[in-house]
Amino acid sequence: MQTLQHLSKHIFYLTPVQKTDRPILAAVKGNKKTLIIDAGNSVAHAQLFQDELLKHDISGDILALTHSHWDHVFGLEHIGIPVICHEKTYQHIKGMQPLSWEDQALDQRVEEGTEIPFCADAIKLELGRNREISIPLPDITFEKKLTIDLGDVTCIIDHVGGDHAKDSCIIYVPEEKTLFLGDCFYANLYAEKWNYTAEEASLLVKKIEAYDADTYILSHHDQPCTKQEMEAELTLMKQCARAVVKHRGNRAKIEQDLAEEANRELTANEREMIGFFVNGYIEE
Ligand SMILES: [Zn+2]
Repeated sequence: MQTLQHLSKHIFYLTPVQKTDRPILAAVKGNKKTLIIDAGNSVAHAQLFQDELLKHDISGDILALTHSHWDHVFGLEHIGIPVICHEKTYQHIKGMQPLSWEDQALDQRVEEGTEIPFCADAIKLELGRNREISIPLPDITFEKKLTIDLGDVTCIIDHVGGDHAKDSCIIYVPEEKTLFLGDCFYANLYAEKWNYTAEEASLLVKKIEAYDADTYILSHHDQPCTKQEMEAELTLMKQCARAVVKHRGNRAKIEQDLAEEANRELTANEREMIGFFVNGYIEE
């Protein structure tokens, strides 16, 4: 059951759904305009968010995309307002437009390795039999960073890239000390093995740390992360990035190193992240 959360004075969001891969959709409401973050994974998803916002007399004026993965853009067909995205996101959407999303086409792309089973399954589940997807092209593109004044609240959209998607953008709301991370903090899922690379992860951590936030919103997390939780995740990512290079991708040595540093046994979450870094390690 998805519910609309009133996170802070200017921010509302609709909770995610793991099973059908629905990400968080958010609204940042100023006294002039409201910015919507992401379009959702289907017209039904976009419609639900719009209906929930209307109950609070909120409607979007502009929409910003965090990246071009299907679950963030399939709802675009339903969005009748100007859409802003990074130029790479625009190009990716252009590339998605001619694709078929029928079972046969999806299965074939999974076979070829250009689609992953996780997404193909979620697409089938979310869309049912109606696979006629039209993804309109966004209206406004930018290259690095864009600031939107919504009236008494601001959104800074910043392209950060990273392992998950090269076009990933984060959205910072300074007045609320809130940072929308989209999917940028997640691993590269479009690979034989889910992975992080030391180089991309280190760059990403620096870009995230440049923003002073108390609340972090990851698109597929049920709960926002606190400053403390995010600091722990960022520290772990830095440790993994350093250790994977130092130990040349040797998992046992990396685990030993990190356990010694923490002076305790590693958690499942820590082991998982180490595994993703090992997967992404390429011998020089
Ligand atoms: Zn994604």
